[in-house]
Amino acid sequence: MTALSEQIRLIPKVDLHVHLEGTITPAMAKKIAERNGVTPAATLMSAQGDSFRWESDGTGAGSLKGFIEAYDDATKVMKKAQDYTDITYDYLKRSADEGCIYAEIGISADHGVMVGLTYTEMLDAITKGYERAHEECGIEMRMISTCVRHYGPEAALKVGKITHDNPHPLVTAFGMAGDENAHSIADFVPAYEASGLKNRTAHAGEASGPETVRQARDLLHIRRFGHMVRAIEDEKLMEELVALKAVPEVCVSSNLFLKVFPYYAAHPLRKFFDAGLKVTLGSDDPTFFDTSIGREYQVAHQHFGFTERELLKLSQNAVEEAFVDEDTRARLIERLEGYAIAA
Ligand SMILES: [Zn+2]
Repeated sequence: MTALSEQIRLIPKVDLHVHLEGTITPAMAKKIAERNGVTPAATLMSAQGDSFRWESDGTGAGSLKGFIEAYDDATKVMKKAQDYTDITYDYLKRSADEGCIYAEIGISADHGVMVGLTYTEMLDAITKGYERAHEECGIEMRMISTCVRHYGPEAALKVGKITHDNPHPLVTAFGMAGDENAHSIADFVPAYEASGLKNRTAHAGEASGPETVRQARDLLHIRRFGHMVRAIEDEKLMEELVALKAVPEVCVSSNLFLKVFPYYAAHPLRKFFDAGLKVTLGSDDPTFFDTSIGREYQVAHQHFGFTERELLKLSQNAVEEAFVDEDTRARLIERLEGYAIAA
């Protein structure tokens, strides 16, 4: 990863799309595996232990299936509450060092189970990591309780119910991640309903085409979408999304790594912004895609011509659409307004 320019580093940033286990660094995975006496899956890391092996397939890109396996393998090095505390703190600290003022992380009760923790044990552990980072760096964080599409509708419904039955002040939304080609959006309506949360997002229009975006909008009643990038294939849908002031959580490096688009020029980030969509950025699974929220802003600047003012607008969009209480939103807006654009 190339170093961030100082100009980009200073811009206040928001990471609106990031999955907690996708922030584990190879070094952290190694450290946690050692202290837990766990041998990581042979396919997870390079021989040196300094990178996740799936990303080093010689092409600089990987398959969705390979990624999902690696993600679960990285999760499985964790065994204790302390592990979740450590990865949360580590991600938030690194992000704050790059100018991130707010992150909304996807958390997964199913992955908590994989680690051996109940949902509430996992939430408490994450909260501890957050409180330490917040105290040291001022970064704010909220959580999106996320079901995993390829685990199926029944598992998702359980996540919805567990979210509803264990309300937590930092869990402010319900979402869905995973393989968009598994099952259909309609199958997950009960999970969203069960969660009882009004704030909603869902992965759509990444691995699958515009139709999932339509379904997510119509069946889940959302206007904030994980990715949404393949909506670009459907002109009429694009017009409708602009009218809806839809909020795509765009993760450019992730899309390139997973070959949703072959190169930067083919990616619709700039078109989305110019069309009037309320574009926001996310790092998705930063350590698996060799990125960070700072780097996503830098990519927008270097490869899509976003000016400093436009980058700030992305942060403003994200704060306006964040799943957060109004007092916190006002504080975040103040932080954005306190940033003086140099040129
Ligand atoms: Zn994602």
